[in-house]
Amino acid sequence: MRPARALIDLPSLRHNYRLARELAGGRTLAVVKADAYGHGAVRGAQALEADGADGFAVACIEEALALREAGIRSPILLLEGFFDADELALIAAHDLWCVLHAQWQIDALERAAISKPLRIWLKLDSGMHRAGLPSADYRHAWQRLSAMPQVDDLVAMTHFARADELDCARTDEQARVFADAIADLGAESSLSNSPGLLGWPQLRNDWARAGLMLYGATPFPGAHAQADRLRPVMTVESKIIAVRDLAAGEPVGYGGGFVTERPSRVGVVAFGYADGYPQFAPTGTPVAIDGQCGRLVGRVSMDMLTVDLTDHPAADVGSVVELWGAQVPVTEVARHCSGSAYSLLCGLKRAPRVYR
Ligand code: PLP
Repeated sequence: MRPARALIDLPSLRHNYRLARELAGGRTLAVVKADAYGHGAVRGAQALEADGADGFAVACIEEALALREAGIRSPILLLEGFFDADELALIAAHDLWCVLHAQWQIDALERAAISKPLRIWLKLDSGMHRAGLPSADYRHAWQRLSAMPQVDDLVAMTHFARADELDCARTDEQARVFADAIADLGAESSLSNSPGLLGWPQLRNDWARAGLMLYGATPFPGAHAQADRLRPVMTVESKIIAVRDLAAGEPVGYGGGFVTERPSRVGVVAFGYADGYPQFAPTGTPVAIDGQCGRLVGRVSMDMLTVDLTDHPAADVGSVVELWGAQVPVTEVARHCSGSAYSLLCGLKRAPRVYR
């Protein structure tokens, strides 16, 4: 079998969820959309539900139904609500909680005949200007929904745009706009994502929604007292399948952009961009070779990439190369590639996941 694989450490996932809940000081939804950011939503949710998680959040009904079919009984919130009013019958039948972020959804809900009333989370656009009702419309929408027989209960929510920038005033501004909008509604509310929980402890409220931090990746570029308590959950690794001894001045890989500066040993690793490694990761992107710090060299191919073994004399065919995970923080790899830990984790493909 091809040696590429992603090891998923479920005890670390549980540890990170407990940290999220500790920081939230209250109930915390585990965001398991996009197949739990590439970690496997069913296995992740089962591990967290067994540990007493407060509930889950997903992007769409397909993701929610996959969890219900796997036996997940905890609350599940649809972060984007429904895309078509036809989904409302299933949402009610499967006891899903539903975000409403746009006026058309409120109108559609009002017209719908559903078997039982829903728990609705009404989203405010507090400054991100993506999804959510503007402040001017929020109170009226709330009152309208409160009077609808289709609505059982209302929670107020908003979403931060820049909470990963710890010196940016926008997060406090968003929190202020949210507080003003919900001032006398007497409602439960939901504010923080991972960077909010980790970096803005003063902004606690009833429900947190933690995604990235569950998977052990920091949203911040540098060291951070709370984020440094996270444990990486996914370790992506493969093995060296060939070794080349090259003279100085030899090009390596497609395009020949990397040229050896000294007599070099180059290892070929069975992992490529078709597995989710960034195609344009530059030479120097960190890897770990048999547990030692190493570096990528040359251009990443579809199924293979190359690493510098010159300073790793013991490494050979069969040596294990970690691409990110326990030894090579995914955030570091993302930084080298001008990408994000979010997209690297979600982008994992083909390599099978192995759980422990
Ligand atoms: N809440 C909402 C509405 C989201 O869209 C997301 C993710 O995109 C999250 C929470 C989780 O964010 P994070 O992964 O930064 O914790």
